[in-house]
This record gives sequence, C-alpha cells and structure tokens, in this order.
Amino acid sequence: MTESQPRKPAPNDGQTVRSTRVQPVRGTHDLIGESARRHFHVIETARRVAATYGFDEWSTPIFEETAVFARGLGDTSDVVMKEMYSFTDRGGESLTLRPEATAGVCRALVTNGLTQSLPQKVFYTGPMFRYERPQKGRYRQFHQIDVEVLGSPEPLADAEVIACGWSILQALGVAQDVVLELNTLGDRESRMAYREALIAYFSTHKEALSEDSRLRLERNPLRVVDSKDPGDKAIVADAPTIHPYLNEHSAAFYGKLREHLARIGVPVVENPRIVRGLDYYSHTAFEFVTSQLGAQGTVLGGGRYDGLVEEMGGPHTPCVGWAAGVERLSMLLAQPPAAPAGIAVIPAAEAQEGAALDIVQALRTAGIRAEMAYRGNLKRRMERANKTGAHTAIILGESELARGVAQVKNLSTGDQQEIALSELAEKLA
Ligand code: ATP
Ligand code: MG
Repeated sequence: MTESQPRKPAPNDGQTVRSTRVQPVRGTHDLIGESARRHFHVIETARRVAATYGFDEWSTPIFEETAVFARGLGDTSDVVMKEMYSFTDRGGESLTLRPEATAGVCRALVTNGLTQSLPQKVFYTGPMFRYERPQKGRYRQFHQIDVEVLGSPEPLADAEVIACGWSILQALGVAQDVVLELNTLGDRESRMAYREALIAYFSTHKEALSEDSRLRLERNPLRVVDSKDPGDKAIVADAPTIHPYLNEHSAAFYGKLREHLARIGVPVVENPRIVRGLDYYSHTAFEFVTSQLGAQGTVLGGGRYDGLVEEMGGPHTPCVGWAAGVERLSMLLAQPPAAPAGIAVIPAAEAQEGAALDIVQALRTAGIRAEMAYRGNLKRRMERANKTGAHTAIILGESELARGVAQVKNLSTGDQQEIALSELAEKLA
C-alpha cells in the first residue's frame, strides 16, 4: 500500500539491465498447474450447483469504502478492523480490500435500488483479504464461494441455503469428510434473555476467564462463548445454551428449519457453541466442519443476518447466506482434476504448416481443444504432443495432404487411421 516512487531511469548503455529481485507477498499464493485445477474445479462446481438452486452470480468491486465493512459498531472494530487491509487513497478516502463478500453484496443491493425487488438469490466468488498469521489453510489473500438469499424471512430460505452448500460438498466428493453443525441465536428478545443468563453464569467464573473474555463479559457475552482460549473453553463447556431462552417464534423458526433439512436429507449435528457476536445476526448459525484440516477445520460458515442491510441505510431486509474457503475445499479434494487433454496437430515439415494451421483453427471453431507446436520437426512435435498430454495427434504429411486426408493417431492406444480433412472436426468432436 505504499505510494510508488517515481524512478530515475537507470543508466543503461544498452548492455546491462538493472533488475530487482521480486517476491510474492507473505500469505499470498499463486495458482498454477494442479493447484489451479483444484481451485477452479471447486469454483466451477459451486457455480453450477448454485445455478440449479436458482442463484444468479454477482460481482462487486474488490475494494469498498471502509465504512462498508466497519460500520462503527463497538465490537466490529476489534474483530474486523485488525484483520482489514485498509488504506487511504490519493484522494484521502479510506478504502478497504474486502475481507468478505456479504457486506459488498448488501451495499450493492442498497445502492442499486434492489431492496424493492426481493428476494435476490446471489452466488458470489472472488478473492478476499485479511491480515492474518499465515499458516496451512489460512492466507492473507484467499478465495471464497458464497451464496446469499436477500429479503426472505422464511426458514425455507435458510434450509435452501444450507442444502445448496451440502449439494456443493457432495458434488465435490467431500461431503463424507464434513459435518453440518447447526445452532440458532433466536430473535432479539430471545437473545436478550440468553445474554442475561450468560452474564450471570460467566460472572461466577470471572477470575478464571481470559482477560479478553472478562472485558467482553458485560458488553457481549456471546463473544465469550466463541472464545478460542483453552481456559475459557472449559468454562464455556458448562455454560447455559440458548434453547431454554428461545421465545415461541424463535423456537418455531428453528423447528421448521430442522424439519426442512430432515426432509431434504441434510444430516445435522446441533452445536449450541456456534454463536455470532454481532448484533445483526439472528436465528440460524451454522458451519460445515472437517477433521481433515487441523486447526483450520471450518470449510464453510454462515447464518442469518436480518439486521445488516438496515445498518447500511437500507430498509429492514432479512437475509441468510454462507461463505466457504476455496483453498480449504481444494485441499479436501481427494483427486486433483485431470489435466485437460486435447488434439495435437502435427505438420510433417514446414511446408505443411499452413494446412495444419487451417485444421487447428477449424477444430477450435468446432469447440475442440487443439494445439500446434510452434516449431520443430515431426519427431520433436510428437514429443511435445505426448508431453502436453494430448489424447490424439493429427499428422499431416505431404502425400496425405495431396489426397485430402490426414493420419489420426490415438496416443494412448497407438491406433492410427486415415480420415478425410473435411470430416476431421465432425469425427473428432
Ligand atoms: P476462521 O475461524 O477459520 O478464522 P472465519 O470465521 O474467520 O474462519 P468466515 O469469515 O466465516 O471465517 O469465512 C468463511 C470461510 O472462509 C471459512 O470457513 C474458511 O473456510 C474461509 N476462510 C476464512 N479466513 C480465511 C483465510 N485467512 N484463509 C483461507 N480461508 C479462509
Ligand atoms: Mg477468521
């Protein structure tokens, strides 16, 4: 985020080149080869499955006004702010690289005047930025897939959002490694009652709590339930759960959601320790967790956030959604997707290059992956075809071309046959 300094042109006599050794930024990673295939397989699978649920893809800017992510709430500042990549641009505005998709999607809903056209069902994918301590499954630039239903207060929306996540995990072949943990936070009234109970309980253990938790105790005891501190966890284990404090509406909502999930066939484990500390969350909270990724075991997290759009100056708009880490899902894939294989078009000599170019273009127009090496004799080009994993080679010799045919060789079986040039695209499609 530093301003680039105008560089003095390096003295250059035409012989020497001044170079700077460049490095990737800590906590970032490149996607190349197998890691790229895993990554895009996750995204494409999610996109395809989300479309079957009726979600439409949105894209919003990678940076937003800082206020989109930090809306001046007491607690947001200490949770989110310390992880945010914020900077002041040349115009003096405070901007932030998005740490998550939901806030930008809600901002877009409001500023595009879509709060009158509800519900909106949004699929989203892209890079996110958080200043965290990099480790396995935790990066400073990472990627999420994300679905949101904006403008639906019905538990059917929660069920559909969760089912969509489950279907994506199934389509990726990782569902057997992942468990859906579900909880409810109830509505505001229920949460207020629960809050009192938590304050009463934690107050009796005040001395044993971590300093952070002691500070949060009065203001936001739900955050104590969420504490990662081992000492706190032991105390939290015996803390009251929200269930006795749910009012009629909240209990009915949660009951309906579980009924829908059972009907769809999504297996659920109830976990009363899943909470969200921010005021705009209500009712449903869930995570899909795995034991395969060590400490970074949450692959997908989500819930209902009925108050967020209002906090951004929009009308009351109940919403539910989730986000999943593409890197964590990529690591769970048992097999990397196979490298794509195509057709290698091979001119026997330079004289056949023009005809080969016509054929390679015709194959591409027919939607077939086809390549021609840029140089080399027949042998070199065959070697290159094998190296790139081509499944078929089309060999163009002088005499074949004269007869309007080509030799077509299956590179895995070695079988070879002659095919008329005019029929190539159709036969190989
Ligand atoms: P965690 O508890 O792992 O920090 P989180 O609660 O911050 O996760 P969310 O904000 O709910 O995570 O984001 C949803 C998902 O995005 C997470 O479940 C995880 O798979 C992924 N994710 C979050 N932060 C990172 C990161 N720094 N690097 C890679 N993936 C991440
Ligand atoms: Mg985090």
